[in-house]
Amino acid sequence: MDCPICGSDDIEILNSKQKSSKTKLMEEYLLRCESCGHVFKDIFSAKKPKPYRLIISEQDKSHKTTIDLSPSDELKTGEILLSEFGQVEVTSIEVNDKRVNKSKIEDIDTIWATSVEIPARIGFSVDLHGEVDSYKLDLDRDFEIAPGDVVKIDKHIVKVHVIKTQDRKLTSGFAKAGVIKRVYSKPVKFNNFDYDLTKDIFKKTS
Ligand SMILES: [Zn+2]
Repeated sequence: MDCPICGSDDIEILNSKQKSSKTKLMEEYLLRCESCGHVFKDIFSAKKPKPYRLIISEQDKSHKTTIDLSPSDELKTGEILLSEFGQVEVTSIEVNDKRVNKSKIEDIDTIWATSVEIPARIGFSVDLHGEVDSYKLDLDRDFEIAPGDVVKIDKHIVKVHVIKTQDRKLTSGFAKAGVIKRVYSKPVKFNNFDYDLTKDIFKKTS
């Protein structure tokens, strides 16, 4: 926006207020031109977000859901949206039974997307007195592992001793899978365990 008096675009926002009606969201700005000092108001308005049909494909399954978007905006394939199933990338947009790459959101019937929630891949070593069984695991990035955890993995029940993250080695506390490089563990003679990671094994590497 430019100053209505001198045309400068060097504008400072002094204040902003949100107003909303049934269908619109309005933002009222109090502005000052840094060139001539003129103070003026400007109103930005957008249609209120509405739910749109969203179909997310993820490996071999798909989820039908909705996502709230502002009808005034535009959507393009390749954009990332935050859905209830996490981040998704728009792969196709359906408008009047046609697939398009770009559309004003108010015209959209269905948004097609794929999940881009990438699991964290971590290493997991089981120290068998000289030999090591080593695994690659795929875990939710938020999954927490702590030194001292007793874990079932494959045919072993082990206790976590050390967690190597991107920048340090932990022997206490906990770390989220998203930052873990490798977990070091030793077998214990327990029958109970805190959790089972067997289903998360991507492959056994040694
Ligand atoms: Zn001005």
